[in-house]
Amino acid sequence: MANAKQAKLDAIRQKILDDKVCPELAEEATQLVFGDGNPDAEVVFIGEAPGKNEDLQGKPFVGAAGRFLNEMLEMIGLKREEVYITNIVKYRPANNRDPYPDEKREFMPYLEAQLEVIQPVLVVTLGRHSLNCFLPDLSISAVHGQPKRYNGRVYLPLFHPAAALYNGGMRQTLIDDFALIPAIIEKIKSSLTPKKGTHAIK
Ligand code: URA
Repeated sequence: MANAKQAKLDAIRQKILDDKVCPELAEEATQLVFGDGNPDAEVVFIGEAPGKNEDLQGKPFVGAAGRFLNEMLEMIGLKREEVYITNIVKYRPANNRDPYPDEKREFMPYLEAQLEVIQPVLVVTLGRHSLNCFLPDLSISAVHGQPKRYNGRVYLPLFHPAAALYNGGMRQTLIDDFALIPAIIEKIKSSLTPKKGTHAIK
């Protein structure tokens, strides 16, 4: 299963290159940062765009924000290899500027395709850019830590680890929200499984 899914993910990665998505960004970037982790993951984390370290290493969240993300994963008993991590925009915007709306739009079909292959139980959006690509009307400060069911998927909006890293209050809020992840996953899974002694609705 994981191998078949990995092959499909590899094909999406190749399609981004073949389709020449965001050629100006590609020109300035070192390489495409497609995504990393378990193709069978129950939870997918989605950031904004690669930074300098990610651009150099070709993997998402490998700098300071990534180390913080790894720490929080450990706190909830998850290994990085068990989850899948990616970004909306898959090339580094020069000087770490915010990605432009048309860049986010251009990459969305490929991100949707990744999610279609992985079929996670929960999609965790990191930061407002990621949240607003899926749920444009919601404000991160109002809905962080609250799971939102939309179009057959469950999203958990969280603050971005880079924004929370050096901001004491936001950092603790992010850690507290992160701690909700295992219970949210279990709740979604139990709502999908018919209970013993009951019958599936026909
Ligand atoms: N910030 C992001 O949004 N993504 C990364 O991969 C790294 C930092």
